[in-house]
Amino acid sequence: MESAAGQSWTEQLKHPVNTLRRLERFIETTPGEREAIATLQTVWGTTPHFAALMDPRDPACPIRRQVIPSLAERENRYGRPDFLAWVEQGAEATPACILKAYPDRVVFLVSDRCASYCRHCFRRDLILCPGRRPRLEREEGLRWLREHTEIRDVLISGGDPFLLVDAEIDHLVRKLREIPHITLIRIGTRTPVVLPQRITPGLMKILRGYHRVPIWISLQCNHPREITEPMARAVYDLLSCGVSVGNQAVLLRGINDDAETFRELHRRLLTIRVRPYYLFYCDFAPGIDHFRTPLEKGAELIRDALQGQITGLAQPHYVVSTNIGKIPIQARERRSRAGRSCRLRNAEGKTVTLPRIPD
Ligand SMILES: *Cc1c(COP(=O)(O)O)cnc(C)c1O
Repeated sequence: MESAAGQSWTEQLKHPVNTLRRLERFIETTPGEREAIATLQTVWGTTPHFAALMDPRDPACPIRRQVIPSLAERENRYGRPDFLAWVEQGAEATPACILKAYPDRVVFLVSDRCASYCRHCFRRDLILCPGRRPRLEREEGLRWLREHTEIRDVLISGGDPFLLVDAEIDHLVRKLREIPHITLIRIGTRTPVVLPQRITPGLMKILRGYHRVPIWISLQCNHPREITEPMARAVYDLLSCGVSVGNQAVLLRGINDDAETFRELHRRLLTIRVRPYYLFYCDFAPGIDHFRTPLEKGAELIRDALQGQITGLAQPHYVVSTNIGKIPIQARERRSRAGRSCRLRNAEGKTVTLPRIPD
């Protein structure tokens, strides 16, 4: 197996694991994996750091399944072929790099590259179809943000914003902080997980400091195996800059949808100082039905694997992304027949009846 230790982030990116030959330096591939790589029209690949976490002999390995194309991607029963247009509709006219679904906050797309292309990601086809790829005009986005005084909170996303070079990130953060109505900068990045070498002293210098406008970072860590010593260190380095770090996990069948793995993931996140923020239902994007669970599954896992067993600090909000925004999903409560009370159940199956309070 190849060692990824000691490589800088730029060296890691110069040697992506994105061909069969490179992949086979890390694992024994299956005939299905080989056929998927040879036949699917798709962008795929990861970093040497993340590839080194793959189990060389287990095709069901949670890292392998997030990285290696699968023949199951040809199937589509529940995904919407128009998922991107659907989920981003309703948005008012904004530059292509600004997604607006809420009155006070927007997503600002600044990069169309990732260090690791997640098989379950809805933006995969965006990267694949250059015609549908938004032109990421950052200055145009900044201009729009300056003019829209109702926006308080900017979520920088992509692609992965931390694949920009330091000078670009510095410029972006500086310009956003100069806008008087912006009070919160958030950054969605998977680099601490798939490319922890990216959290360099140079990047830390850009993020560091006691500022009027704080930075909150959201990771995506889906399985305890992704939590490594370099990853924990990268998180600590971010926190030491005064940046807050949360996690947005995706519920993935066969990867993190069993109670034990799910609990272990959330417990371990807290021990590396990461606060679980969202658990996303697998998006209604095409070709990812093999990752899909029943809709209620995430709420049941939170109730049965987390609540009452580990601290509330470890409990994420479970949501599904739709054309009308993110919608929270709760484990179903039972209404009594008369409808004058509701019955709530805990993880052990015990129930309590509470009165319904009229408006
Ligand atoms: C997810 C999302 C946000 C941020 O939502 P929070 O619930 O505040 O984390 C903002 N805008 C869009 C378009 C989003 O999809």
